[in-house]
Amino acid sequence: MGSAAFDGYSPVGDILTTAICMVMGILLVFSFVRRTRSFRIFLAILGLLMFAAWTSVGYHTILEHWQPGLGTLAGVLRLLMHASLFLIFFLFVRYIANVTDLEHRKTLWATLAGGLISGTVILWDLIDTLNPGTGFRIGEDGAVQEAGGNIFLVGYLAYIVLLGVLLIHVRGRLYKRVMYGFYGTVLMAILLNLLQRLAGQSSFTVGSFVLPVIAMFYIMHSSPYDVRLGAIDVHAMEDLVRFYREKKKDFGYMSLYMHTFKENHTEMSASLQATIRRFAGSYFRDARLFQIGSGHLLLVYNLKKNANTDSRIRSIMDAFQREYTRFRHDYKIVIGTSTEALSRNNGYISFIRYLYRRMPENSSHTVTDRDTEDFIRSEYILKQLTDIHRLRNPNDARVLVYCQPVFNIRLGRYDTAEALMRLKLPEIGLVYPDQFIPLAEENGYIHVLTEIILHKTCEAARRLLDAGYLFSRISVNVSALELKDRYFTRDITRIIESSSVSGEHVAIELTESQDESDFLIMQSRINELKGLGIKFYLDDFGTGYSSLERIMQLPFDIIKFDRSLVIASASSPRSEAIVRNMARLFAEMDFSVLYEGVENDLDERRCIDMSASYLQGYKYSRPVPIEELTNFFSLSA
Ligand code: C2E
Ligand code: CA
Ligand code: CA
Repeated sequence: MGSAAFDGYSPVGDILTTAICMVMGILLVFSFVRRTRSFRIFLAILGLLMFAAWTSVGYHTILEHWQPGLGTLAGVLRLLMHASLFLIFFLFVRYIANVTDLEHRKTLWATLAGGLISGTVILWDLIDTLNPGTGFRIGEDGAVQEAGGNIFLVGYLAYIVLLGVLLIHVRGRLYKRVMYGFYGTVLMAILLNLLQRLAGQSSFTVGSFVLPVIAMFYIMHSSPYDVRLGAIDVHAMEDLVRFYREKKKDFGYMSLYMHTFKENHTEMSASLQATIRRFAGSYFRDARLFQIGSGHLLLVYNLKKNANTDSRIRSIMDAFQREYTRFRHDYKIVIGTSTEALSRNNGYISFIRYLYRRMPENSSHTVTDRDTEDFIRSEYILKQLTDIHRLRNPNDARVLVYCQPVFNIRLGRYDTAEALMRLKLPEIGLVYPDQFIPLAEENGYIHVLTEIILHKTCEAARRLLDAGYLFSRISVNVSALELKDRYFTRDITRIIESSSVSGEHVAIELTESQDESDFLIMQSRINELKGLGIKFYLDDFGTGYSSLERIMQLPFDIIKFDRSLVIASASSPRSEAIVRNMARLFAEMDFSVLYEGVENDLDERRCIDMSASYLQGYKYSRPVPIEELTNFFSLSA
């Protein structure tokens, strides 16, 4: 059997291969790639491919310019070319096993099979080359003799079988479209090889290996897909929203959040990923899955192409419940449809996060118009808070101090008050604490608000004192979060000292701390500020968990019994006994007891009877602008 291989060879294929490999290399240098293990295998393949192309060019060049004596060199180059191609085959196997997380045992089998094929071919070729009597030989005239069968072709076919089996075996492990991409390119590569052989060509042998490499490059190392989940990243989601809005198409969405994966930085198990992949593909037509963050997925589907959406949602939710019994990860699900207000500024993700914060674990929620309005309002408030925080202006006109007067039973008059914050915002008017305090706390803006309230309270107190009103102090609420800041004491001191009232006219209300370290911080902050004459109130007593013993270790002046205790004490003699005894205990320990939320005469009588020193509630007054305290405080004679 003999053939002159160089007859059908031109270096174009190998030159092109080298060029393509170099371009891929350059692109990788200039793009962001996760340096995973599979990526390193990919780089090795790229290197080997270039090497194979050069040896191929070298080998064929020698044949073309044949001179006796070059036989050994030609043999070595041919051997190197074959060896690198079969190493590439081998690395393909390793690569597939790696990106699909093939089980250890199966990986071992595939590696063994690949190693066997590659090893046999390379060894056979080596023996052939060393042993001029058999197999591959170049005659005196430069004609190539290949007796003893074409081991290259045998190995090639063996690998096609191995890779075929492997790819089919792992098909469920990656996103469907990605697998199709692989199948397509592998088929093209085989086809290219067959065609060139039919045409008596060998220029594209190395080149045919480029095709799967391009697929790997695109799909695994530069595409925005998460190949396991079949999810696209958040920017693609923003793109799609923009696209739908321009085309005036409506879309529906389902968002799934599982906090476990965010908090533990763990990846989902392969079977959970497979389930999600299946979910994303099975219930809606023209649906796309996005990965918003760890543990947060969003499925977007074209509404028009999904008639009877409601029943689709019902079946996906039913299926989800069945899966939940298997996985048992806490979840939150939000279901909604596109609205212009959210599409306009691509606000879906913050909207969904906003809803999540208000949802219990393991619940699903269908979006209402009210949700959207509330969210837009809350976004606006947040924007204003950001601005207030940025300016840090102690006289910011958007921050208002309201006050609720407190009745002193012993004196028989109002002699203190609690400052309660309100916002007055340009587009929406008066905003109450439940709508902005949590936002301010979450975003780290609360301390600046406290500074403004404290400053304004001091200024107002000065004016009241100057006008001759008698009062002991006005208390200001401080969030537990603020105490942690190491500049807390310095900031409070600076504000009080720069005003012209003394610390005695100011009090700070704190809520119970949960853990030991918070407790210690609270203790040291109170001690640091007591020196200025500031009094401390324990706010919302009865809603927290800390022990009486612990509270009594802190130098509080006044214990504010939460309104829930006032209500409870009216509900049964037993509850009343509990509240009464706690209040007496505090009173005996020299704490003053203040009851919050006294709404009527009955409340008042009961509280007075339960060791009260102070009473506060709607019975006396709702919170009023601080200037209106003139209606409650007495004038000095
Ligand atoms: P809080 O400190 O427990 O304030 C008492 C709340 O109970 C006030 O609500 C007050 O208006 C309300 N209230 C007073 N009397 C009665 C009554 O008889 N019945 C009922 N049902 N409610 C009564 P507001 O002003 O909406 O404040 C809510 C919460 O917001 C406050 O609870 C406090 O935790 C927080 N907050 C208010 N202002 C500030 C502030 O300047 N800084 C901080 N960090 N939190 C503030
Ligand atoms: Ca309070
Ligand atoms: Ca309170």
